Parts: sequence; C-alpha cells; structure tokens
Amino acid sequence: MMKKKIKNMALAFLLLFAAVIFTSCSAEEKDQTYDKPYPVPVYDISFFDSGFALSYPCGSYDDNSYDYNLMCLVDYDAKAVIPMCSRPGCGHTGRENCAAVKNYQASLVYGGTFYGFITGEDKQIDSTTRRPTIDIVASNIDGSNERKFASVEGMIFGLSRVPRDSSMFVYQDCAYFPVYVSDMINGIGSAFAEYHFIRLSLKTGEITDLGIIASGYGAFVTTLGATAEKVYFNATYREENIELSDFQSTEEYFEAIENAKVIEKFLCMNLSDGAISQVALPGISFSSRIVANTYFYSDENGFYKYDLLTGETKKLHEHPCNEMYYVTDDRLFYTCDEENISFSHALTDESTSVIPSRTDSVNFRPFKFKDGWCYGNAAGLLDDKGIAVMAYCREDDYFRKENCELTAVSFND
Ligand SMILES: [Zn+2]
Ligand SMILES: [Zn+2]
Repeated sequence: MMKKKIKNMALAFLLLFAAVIFTSCSAEEKDQTYDKPYPVPVYDISFFDSGFALSYPCGSYDDNSYDYNLMCLVDYDAKAVIPMCSRPGCGHTGRENCAAVKNYQASLVYGGTFYGFITGEDKQIDSTTRRPTIDIVASNIDGSNERKFASVEGMIFGLSRVPRDSSMFVYQDCAYFPVYVSDMINGIGSAFAEYHFIRLSLKTGEITDLGIIASGYGAFVTTLGATAEKVYFNATYREENIELSDFQSTEEYFEAIENAKVIEKFLCMNLSDGAISQVALPGISFSSRIVANTYFYSDENGFYKYDLLTGETKKLHEHPCNEMYYVTDDRLFYTCDEENISFSHALTDESTSVIPSRTDSVNFRPFKFKDGWCYGNAAGLLDDKGIAVMAYCREDDYFRKENCELTAVSFND
C-alpha cells in the first residue's frame, strides 16, 4: 500500500516534471511568425511573435551625429518604439556607450534571440588582397549577453523594404541569404564579384555555402523570393573587365560601362543541394516576386497566381495588375491600375475584398496584422514630432472605412 503510494507520487512528480520541460521547450522553440510551410521573408523590419525590430536612423545635423542607427523594438501591446538598450539613464544619443547604437547590415529576431549581421575584420587573402567579412552576433532581445555567433565572407547589401522586397528568409530553423563577395586589391574594390547563397543554422551557428548564384564584373543579384524548394533570383553582370585606369577620362570610362554588354539571367537554386538552373516562368521580370510557394503575374487578359509546387494556375482578376503586389501574413495585396482599385486576397480561404481607398494624402501600406490591429508604413503621415516610424489602425477599420484613423508612432526618447 505504502509502496504503491510512493510509486504513484513518484509517477505524478515525473509527469509534472515532464510537463514543465515540455512547456518550456515548446514555448521557446515555437516561433509562430516563422512556422509556415514556406520560407518567411525577413526585411529591414524583422518580425517576431510579440513585436518587431527595426534600425532607426538617429542623431542630429548640429553635431554631425546624424549617421548612426538605433536598433529599436516595437512591442505590439505597447505600440511604442523602444531602443534596444537596457543601460539605466542612457540617452541613446550615439555619443555614449549605448548598446542600441549599431550599424547592422541586417538583423533578425528568432526564437527569442536577436541576431545582428555586422561588418567583421577583413580577411587577408595575400599581400595585396583583402576580403570583407560579416560577423553574426547573437544577444538577448534587450541587447544584453551579446556574443559572436558565426562569421561569413562577403557583405550583405542591407535588407530591403518591408513588405515588398526581401533577400533573407527563415525556414526550418535556418536563415538563408545571399552575400556579395568582392576583394579589395591594394585598397581598391575589385569590379569582379561573386554572389554566394548562404544557409545559417539559427540553432548552432553552422554556415553552409550553398554555391555561387552568379559572378562577373559589376555583378548584381536581386532575390525575387523563395519556395519550400527553391530560391529565385534576377542576376546581371558583364563578362568584360572595364578598368578606370585603361581610360583617359572618367567620362570615357563611364561611357564604356554604359555601352558594355550586360547579361541578364533569371535563376533558381535548390535549397537542398544548391543546384542552379534557369527559370522559365510566364512574364517574369525584375519586378516579379515569389512568396508563399506562389508566383504572381499578369498578362493582357488578367492577373494570376501560379503555385510553384503543384504547377496549378488560377486567375485572380480580369485585368492585368500593378507589378508592385506584395504578400504579408498570408494575404496578397494588389492593385488594378485600369480601375484604380486595390484588393486583398486571402491565400488561405481564397476570398478577395476591395480595400477602401484613402482620399487624404496618406499612403498607408500595412505590413503586419496582429490581434485585430494592423501596422504599416504610412508615407505622408507625421506625428507631433514630425516623424513617423510606422502607423497602426484597427484591422476592421482598414478593411471597411475610407480614410480609417491612423496613429503615427515615432522614436520614444
Ligand atoms: Zn542606450
Ligand atoms: Zn480591374
């Protein structure tokens, strides 16, 4: 009897202990923002479950300190911009030792950890050649406990604007991004560059170079988007080397560059093995975007969505649409230029609704929907300090009211 009771108590304790372990594990690991069946884009604003991180240009023209950036957090509940610095009494002005003043090439919050991509020390290749590197630092979300997490050769050309353009994706505990690798020879940047596509494990810091996307003189690669299988690129480069030193004047040099043959390719790379191939998709252009395993495109008869995993195509609209469509939180936003109407299309239930237009001068583009609120860029809207980092409104109002009331949020100093 006694023995049985002890055994039961031990079992109950074990179950309780297991439950505690289970909940703490799942709470830490389950990041709903990135829990999708496709690579989720990271922009110049990085989203996570309770808010987002952004780099905010600060300083003043008076003391020439305008060139520093503050890493800030916006909490969905607080709806305020808070510097990522926990030092008591810090004015976050850049003239002091402020943890938030950092010029990151890119940043990301994942699983409760902040990852900053910052210029590292050049790697010496030989006596005349150096190669830029990127250090990836990890810290708590308040900027404390910063440590070096990983390092990779090359540069990231800052992440592009939310919610339209992205060159970094998070998928299954890994971040994927292109790096621009170009050497400095005797202190002068080489015109030759290679773009490599990198996988970074956000758990272990392991870096995998999946391969070269494109290389050449004046090479430039734009990421168009990614599916669960492939990432898509537009690449331009010259095969011919044109050096300033070969010309009598800079005008002749620029003329030669302008007249040089530029090769343009649409390429895709397998996420699994890095194999690269040419893309043949209808109407693909530099402005095309791929997100949520889907490619959207227009022809003269309409606007379509093309499922890149199944090959299925569906017509969304009877007119061609503006190429500046975007997807956020499983919703596609697109505009028919012919009718001058904007639409929201839910990718989950495939319902489409008209978005009431604004008749004021504010151009509000939502980038996040959360708990009945909608957050976005609001060009033309200023708060009482004359600046606005972002604006927000009620989700219902956004979909139902013309000129719905927006609240502008600026840096809370
Ligand atoms: Zn500070
Ligand atoms: Zn139309």
